[in-house]
Amino acid sequence: MPSAKFEIKRKCQYCGNTFIAKTLDSKYCSRRCSQRAYDQREAAKKRMSQLNDIVENIPEARDYISVHEAVAMFGISRDTIYRLIRKGNVPAINIGQRLTRISKSKLSEMFPLRAEPIDRSRALPKSYHLEPEDCYTIGEISKTYGIDDSTVYAHIRKYSIPTRQIGNFVYAPKEDIDHLYKDVVKS
Ligand SMILES: [Zn+2]
Repeated sequence: MPSAKFEIKRKCQYCGNTFIAKTLDSKYCSRRCSQRAYDQREAAKKRMSQLNDIVENIPEARDYISVHEAVAMFGISRDTIYRLIRKGNVPAINIGQRLTRISKSKLSEMFPLRAEPIDRSRALPKSYHLEPEDCYTIGEISKTYGIDDSTVYAHIRKYSIPTRQIGNFVYAPKEDIDHLYKDVVKS
């Protein structure tokens, strides 16, 4: 059976340009974009650890905290905080220019604590329901994404996507397939 060469058209996750991905895992159009995305992730990590340090240094007993500390503690923006103060929704005191203090206990009633980024390695394994209504047949995948059957099978094996055969049809979960090909520009 002749198989067309598989081409994955993707949007670069950094600059948004469409490019031909060499592998299913390619996310960026160029080394430059890949490097910039990496720098961005590193900067975000650094920022997160700075915020954690600030939160750790807020004394439990002190109710009035700085805007800086409130941002770190609740993950809300400075604009949000100043808006709440202007509206009188949060008790605040002004002990000088740039020295606004706001009530931690009041903010706690309004906002959850800033969430840590989710640790992917601790994500629970998905439970698969391979009911036909939650699945595509291989033919449907091939038609939807413009990829020939044998390539679809190869990807299913490579990415350990579960399948189920009913009669003449092989089914694969929609969720996994859509995720796998989510950046493929449908032709
Ligand atoms: Zn790019």
